[in-house]
Amino acid sequence: MALIVQKFGGTSVGDVEKIKRAAQRIVKTKKQGHQVIVVVSAMGKETDRLVSLASEINPKPSERELDMLLSTGEQVSIALLAMAIHSLGYEAKSFTGHQVRIITDSSFTKARILRVDADRIKDELNDEQIVIVAGFQGIDERHEITTLGRGGSDITALALAAALDADVCEIYTDVDGVYTTDPNIVAEARKINRISYDEMLELASLGAKVLQIRSVEFAKKYGITIHVRSSFHEQEGTWVLKEDAGMEEVVVRGVAYNRDESKITIKGVPDRPGLAAMIFTAVAKNNIVVDMII
Ligand code: ADP
Ligand code: ASP
Ligand code: MG
Repeated sequence: MALIVQKFGGTSVGDVEKIKRAAQRIVKTKKQGHQVIVVVSAMGKETDRLVSLASEINPKPSERELDMLLSTGEQVSIALLAMAIHSLGYEAKSFTGHQVRIITDSSFTKARILRVDADRIKDELNDEQIVIVAGFQGIDERHEITTLGRGGSDITALALAAALDADVCEIYTDVDGVYTTDPNIVAEARKINRISYDEMLELASLGAKVLQIRSVEFAKKYGITIHVRSSFHEQEGTWVLKEDAGMEEVVVRGVAYNRDESKITIKGVPDRPGLAAMIFTAVAKNNIVVDMII
């Protein structure tokens, strides 16, 4: 018997049919005799919808209230998924971040997980329940609801896998695994069968959103094997794990992109001490992150 964490992203629970399919996948794992913890994202583009709703009401919404709002998306999908599992004749219980005490700092909209109360989840697992946890959310020490930043359900999944010492964390998504570049943009992209934590960290930090970067940090720190795979079929996807000898021979593993980056050229800057500082102070004051200076 293994302890398996399965995370289903927004597109994998985007409608009723997909929720039912995810439920079948989960039940199949349970039937094989494993303990299963499931982490779910909000359905489809629900989080985007909530963000734009907020900005229609107030162009600069309070971050506390934004987290209050955004956390609702995941609460819908966990309950529906539990109901779908019940329809298949299996036991399952859904939990919000608050209920399983995913404790974070107080940085609303980009909170960091400090600790997870594993005992509550263990009790439910020992009671033969399939445990379904809302991704992307936690609470701070004062019980305020926080969210972990976009794509944060991956972090919830890896944090739970670490806290409960899971054997593997399966990330179910809308592509077959990690590719050499985004397969939705480059048709020739190839699926990578095995990739090291460090290579995955690099790809994620450069914009490959298939895994949220902090989730890979968790995996590396606690040595958890990640299996990124399709929620639409059963073929093997990509294993993210510790580097082995065969992996070292690759020179270029993949290419990532970022749509939110601009190149700005300032011409004719005299070579005088203090000028660079003047330019970058102005940039920093406007909260603009500088990626590269040439
Ligand atoms: P989920 O809703 O399951 O969390 P995401 O949209 O966050 O899914 O991540 C999956 C998406 O990541 C894919 O649909 C793909 O467009 C994109 N992506 C970007 N780079 C890569 C890559 N190197 N390999 C696979 N997918 C990638
Ligand atoms: N629902 C959240 C988002 O869209 C978290 C996630 O999908 O991982 O960013
Ligand atoms: Mg994602």
